Amino acid sequence: MKITRARALGTCFGVRDAIEAALDPAFKGDLTIVGQLVHNPQTVQKLRDHGVQMVDSLDDEIESRNVMITAHGTAESVKEKLSDRGFTVYDASCPLVLRVHTAVRRLVSEGWHPVVFGQEKHVEVRGIVGDLEDYTVVGGSGDIEKLAGKARIGIVCQTTHRITEARGILDEIRNRFPEMEVEFVDTVCKPTKDRQSAVEELADDLARGQGVMVVVGGYNSSNTRKLLEVCSERQVTAHHIENEDQLESAWFTGVEHVGITAGTSTPHEVVDAVHVRITELSR
Ligand code: SF4
Repeated sequence: MKITRARALGTCFGVRDAIEAALDPAFKGDLTIVGQLVHNPQTVQKLRDHGVQMVDSLDDEIESRNVMITAHGTAESVKEKLSDRGFTVYDASCPLVLRVHTAVRRLVSEGWHPVVFGQEKHVEVRGIVGDLEDYTVVGGSGDIEKLAGKARIGIVCQTTHRITEARGILDEIRNRFPEMEVEFVDTVCKPTKDRQSAVEELADDLARGQGVMVVVGGYNSSNTRKLLEVCSERQVTAHHIENEDQLESAWFTGVEHVGITAGTSTPHEVVDAVHVRITELSR
């Protein structure tokens, strides 16, 4: 059985740098992360093992002096609130998320109504819109009517959005509101684009050879779900797992080609362990 890894997969530099920062021994266990730093259970456990505490929101009790903002970023007002409460704030926001914040500030200053293509409740999107008085989040075609009556809209994307989907919605907006002025800033990050194009290539290969894909990533990871969507569109069977223990030998019976891909918060050692386990199961 042939096993192929997607040519780009797993942890991106933004997540890697944030994890390294949180594991810095200088914190001596005196650190709380607000929100999930990464959507990966093994990494979350490693952080806990290093004494890092995690809370879901600012309303939760924080016992450390140091507080870390996740790679997904947050609103300036949130950082100010934390400082006002006496915490020392460490900002592990990915520079490519901060690029989205900068793009939105520029659009607003130029008089565009800010629009974000993304998931309304996702922490990254909450951070992008958190300081805005007026904005619209478009999760899909069903949200386009929310833009009725706007004269000028400036659009950015959640960094992990599928760029093909974003361009499709953009076309729908232009067709539905031909009079509307639209400025689009492509803020899907390069690591996401690389992983999306790599999984598309591999899924096309698997579709030709009746192969199956194994997608490794947290069940609550947005970008991992996008990798599964790519497989589903090509009618390639995909199995979503968080670690190698969840692999089932029956998935590979009679299969000649297995592809492996992984979301941007999946550590490379987890991908390696999955690869080894599939090799064992194929014997
Ligand atoms: S997915 Fe992109 S924006 Fe998000 S942390 Fe990784 S590199 Fe940064």
